[in-house]
Amino acid sequence: MSFAIHGLAVARGVAIGRAVLVASSRMDVAHYFVDASQVESEIDRLRQGRDAAFGEIQRLQRTVSQMNANEAPAELTALLDVHLMLLQDESLTRDVKHWISERLYNAEWALTTQLEILARQFDEMEDEYLRERKADLEQVVERVLRHMKGMASPVNPGRKRPRTQQDLLLDDTVDVPLVLIAHDLSPADMLQFKQSVFAGFVTDVGGKTSHTAIVARSMDIPAVVGARSASQLVRQDDWVIIDGDAGVVIVDPSPILLAEYGFKQRQAELERERLQRLQRTPAVTLDGERIELLANIEMPEDAPHAVRAGAVGVGLFRSEFLFMGRRGHLPDEEEQYSAYRRAVEGMQGLPVTIRTVDIGADKPLDARHDKDHNQDAHLNPALGLRAIRWSLADPAMFLNQLRAILRAAAHGQVHLLVPMLAHGNEIRQTLALIDQARTELDRRGTVYGPVKLGAMIEVPAAALSVPLFLRYFDFLSIGTNDLIQYTLAIDRADESVAHLYDPTHPAILRLVADTIAQCRAAGKLVSVCGEMAGDVAFTRLLLGLGLRSFSMHPAQILAVKQEVLRSDTQRLSGWAQQVLQAEEPAALLSP
Ligand code: PEP
Ligand code: MG
Repeated sequence: MSFAIHGLAVARGVAIGRAVLVASSRMDVAHYFVDASQVESEIDRLRQGRDAAFGEIQRLQRTVSQMNANEAPAELTALLDVHLMLLQDESLTRDVKHWISERLYNAEWALTTQLEILARQFDEMEDEYLRERKADLEQVVERVLRHMKGMASPVNPGRKRPRTQQDLLLDDTVDVPLVLIAHDLSPADMLQFKQSVFAGFVTDVGGKTSHTAIVARSMDIPAVVGARSASQLVRQDDWVIIDGDAGVVIVDPSPILLAEYGFKQRQAELERERLQRLQRTPAVTLDGERIELLANIEMPEDAPHAVRAGAVGVGLFRSEFLFMGRRGHLPDEEEQYSAYRRAVEGMQGLPVTIRTVDIGADKPLDARHDKDHNQDAHLNPALGLRAIRWSLADPAMFLNQLRAILRAAAHGQVHLLVPMLAHGNEIRQTLALIDQARTELDRRGTVYGPVKLGAMIEVPAAALSVPLFLRYFDFLSIGTNDLIQYTLAIDRADESVAHLYDPTHPAILRLVADTIAQCRAAGKLVSVCGEMAGDVAFTRLLLGLGLRSFSMHPAQILAVKQEVLRSDTQRLSGWAQQVLQAEEPAALLSP
C-alpha cells in the first residue's frame, strides 16, 4: 500500500528507485559496492568471519565448562548455545549471500542489512522470549564483524550512477536505480557515497543546512532529510519516490503516481539541459555589473566539475573532508599538499579558496566512533571546540595544514580562509601561526607562494566587529549557515527546530547587509559561501544588498546565473532596503 513520509527538502529533483537501507549498526561498518568478479572472495570473507566467531564461542564454551557453578551460571552456557545456533542458521547466511551476489554489497554491509531485516522480524514477535533474542543476534553479528575487520577487502570506488529513465523501473536487474534510506549519515559517509550508485537520499534526522544535507546537495541528487521514521517505515527493496522539491517520500507508489513523477523527472532534466546553454555566458547583470560565481567543493576531485559548471574559481574548499573517517590518522603535510595542489591544478589557473579545517559539531572526525565513545557527547558541540578553536588547540596539526596550503600556492592562485573566528586574539594567533609556517618553509628551503588571507563571518560577534576583521584580512566570506545557527540559536542539524531556521529573519538580513556594506566601503572583497548564495530565492536580494561574489555548489551555478542575467542591481538596491526594514521580509521576496 502506498504512503507518504514528510521531511525537509534539501536537494531538488525527483528520484525513483528501490530502497537500500543502511543500518545504523553500533559498529563502524564500511558501505561500498564490489565488482561482480569479487563476489566469491567477498562471500569467502564472510565465511571466514563466521568461522572465526564460531571457533571463538566454542573456545568460550570449553572455558565455561571447566568453571564451577558459581563462576559460570547455567544461563551463560545456554546463551553461548543460542549464539552458536544463530551462527549456523542457514537463513542468515543465505540471505547475506543474496545481498552480496545480487546487490553487490560488500560483506559487512550485506551482514548489517540482513541484521536490520531480522531485527525487525524479532521486534514484531508476540513471544517475549523470542523477541529478546534480537539482542543475541546483534551480538553474534558484531562478533562476526569484529573478526572480519582484520581481513583485507577489495576496495571498490563504487558503481557509476545508473540511468534514471522510467523504463528502468520495470527492469529488475542490478541496474535498477537505488535510493539510500538511513537513520543518519555522517558527512564522511556521504562522501563515501559521492561517486556511487544512488539516485537519491533520505535520512530520518538532519536539518536543511546540516553537513549531510550540504553534501547531498553537492551531489546534485534529490534528497530529503528530517524524515523522522523513514528508516523504520521503509523496507529493504521497497519502491520509493523522493520528491526533493517538496520534501516528500512516497513509498510503494501506485502506477499513476509513478507516471506523474516520471513526467516531473523528465521536466527537470529538460530544465537542466536548457540551463546548460548558459555555461559559457558571463554572469553580468542587465546594468552591466559583473558577478563572480564561485564553487564550493569538498574534495580536490570536485574541481574539474566546478570548471565544467562554469565556476570562475573555488570560493570554499571545505578541507575538513580530508580529515574525516581517518580513525585518528590525520593527513600529514605531504598528503594535504598533494590534495590542495590537485585542486589548484584542477581549476586550471582559476583561484582556489582553501578553508582551514572546520572539524567539530556535525562534522566529527569519526562519526560513529565519536558518537559512541566521546565522553563529551552530552555537551553542545556546535558551541564547543570547533573550526579555528580546534586548530589553535593543536598548533602542530594546524602548522602542517598551513604549510601545505602555502606550498600549494606555488602552483596557482590560492586564498586562505579561516572559519569561525570571533576574537581579536584568535585572529592574531592565527596570523602568527601563518607567519611561523612561512618561516619554517624558508628554513627548509621549500618553495611556497603568496596567498590572500580571508576570514569567515559566521558568528554574530564577528558580524558585529567587521572593522576589526578588515584591519587584518584581505577579504571576508559570510558563512550564512552558521551565522543563522548562532544568531537564532537553532541547531542546524536538528530537524525538530528546522522550522525556526530562517535566513530571512530581520536580524540575519541586517548582519549580512552591514557586513557587505562595510566591506564595500573599505574597498575589500566580500563573498557569501553559505547555502543562501546558491538559493535562487535570495539572489536578487543579495545583489540588491551589494553582493558581487557568490560561492555555491557547482550544480546551482547555472540557475543562479540565470537570475543574475535577469537582474538590474540599481533597481534592486532600493527594493533591498525595503526588505531590510520589513517586519516579515519573506513576504517581499516572492516574485
Ligand atoms: C557556513 O557556515 O555558512 C559555511 C559555509 O560553512 P559550513 O557550512 O561548512 O559550516
Ligand atoms: Mg560554517
